[in-house]
Amino acid sequence: MTLCDVGPRDGLQNESDVLAPKVRAELVNRLAAAGLPRIEAVSFVRAERVPQMAGAEEVVAGIERREGTEYAGLVLNLKGYERLRATGLDRVNCTLAATESFNRRNANMSLDDALEEVEGILGASELPTTATLSVAFGCPFEGRVDPDQVVRLCGRLAADEVVLADTIGVATPTQVRRLVERVADEGRPVGVHLHNTRNTGYANAYAALEAGATVFDASIGGLGGCPFAPKATGNIATEDLLYLLEGEGAETGVDLDALIGVSEWLEGLLGRRLDGQVYRAGSFPTAPEAASASTSSGE
Ligand code: ZN
Repeated sequence: MTLCDVGPRDGLQNESDVLAPKVRAELVNRLAAAGLPRIEAVSFVRAERVPQMAGAEEVVAGIERREGTEYAGLVLNLKGYERLRATGLDRVNCTLAATESFNRRNANMSLDDALEEVEGILGASELPTTATLSVAFGCPFEGRVDPDQVVRLCGRLAADEVVLADTIGVATPTQVRRLVERVADEGRPVGVHLHNTRNTGYANAYAALEAGATVFDASIGGLGGCPFAPKATGNIATEDLLYLLEGEGAETGVDLDALIGVSEWLEGLLGRRLDGQVYRAGSFPTAPEAASASTSSGE
């Protein structure tokens, strides 16, 4: 099971505060020290487009590499891939929206052109690849997204793994379970990227776990937001998800108390209470039956 903290990227990208590259590198280092198997550290976009993500190279230069943590970056085009490649990051994440309108509004491209762009990145990559399909469950412009369309698009993406993203946080568990099962049938690792916009994020994560998802994106403290719902919360919180997964017997290798420490540090840094709840409530010993739970990842 791979728990990927996207706080330094998806989280901070949707925060109004702009943190200096040095501070963002420190966040990555603190997350790695908690034992996270993967961290999405940066996004290679133009600084004028996303000021929160400026200085990606500087962030990566400030990373103190930890054995056992894979460091990923998000790229939107080949130029971004070249930048990532030069930094020595481990994994390429590229993204395609599941609907025509979202690609046009978000990337100023048709779905076909966006697909071609992603295929170009995946074809060029000499690194492990993740393809994230955004608005895989619902789109702010087109409403509910047809699962057949999502399955079809996944089939076109020659990535090592596919992550289904509920970008605007509208999915409910049965929807997640069915789509994860269908995409997992292709035989590739499937992940989910869940936002807790409507408070269904954790129920959806549990459904994904049951359906066989092996990659889970989350952000420390529930950092971030939803670009289409200004008052809404962000990704599901990594420590809250970890508490749930471990209670269900999953082996993640992540230290919950250390993660809680990172959220406490972030709270002080940002000067506001974060959305995550476990860092406020504290950890609690895992029940003995968790060790033999049927949802164990088997590792
Ligand atoms: Zn997201």
